[in-house]
Amino acid sequence: MRGYVQVYTGNGKGKTTAALGLALRAVGAGLKVFIGQFIKLGEYSEIKALRRFSDQIQVEQFGLGRFLKGRPSPENIAAARKGLARIREVMASGQYQLIILEEANVAAKLGLITVQDILDIIEAKPDDVELVITGRHASRRIIDAADLVTEMKSIKHYFDKGVEARLGIEK
Ligand code: ATP
Ligand code: MG
Repeated sequence: MRGYVQVYTGNGKGKTTAALGLALRAVGAGLKVFIGQFIKLGEYSEIKALRRFSDQIQVEQFGLGRFLKGRPSPENIAAARKGLARIREVMASGQYQLIILEEANVAAKLGLITVQDILDIIEAKPDDVELVITGRHASRRIIDAADLVTEMKSIKHYFDKGVEARLGIEK
């Protein structure tokens, strides 16, 4: 089956959950899924849930956790670069039909990786792999290179009223 490049971006809720929903659907169809998470580190509830599908979904984290705005540390950059190498390896292995790069847009925005790094991955994508790139602030060049782009547009979000991420709903 021909694979396409999808981007979920925008400032509204739903980017990560859309990617996870797609992973669930892919599992139901017998596909194998690789999820590489930039920036994030830790036991989000989805990581715990995905362990139940460990025969079909592989999740790896390439981040050292969220860092405050400013210049990323060499350690942060090194971890992201390791992730890029790993993604290239995984993509070339032919083992996975769906590859999700969580928060890759944000990693590029923060300077952990470059937009060109993501474009290179898109360029190297085998025909039968579906590639999903998530995160706010997708670069124009990535949008141009993708086949499907959805912008989650926030109309209203309780975060703005001070409701931080809740267990089982946002994390
Ligand atoms: P979900 O994982 O629920 O699908 P998402 O992937 O679209 O959401 P992210 O951009 O990854 O959302 O945001 C992660 C977290 O950032 C949110 O769970 C929320 O707690 C927090 N956040 C900070 N500012 C905002 C904002 N303006 N609107 C929404 N969430 C925000
Ligand atoms: Mg997210």
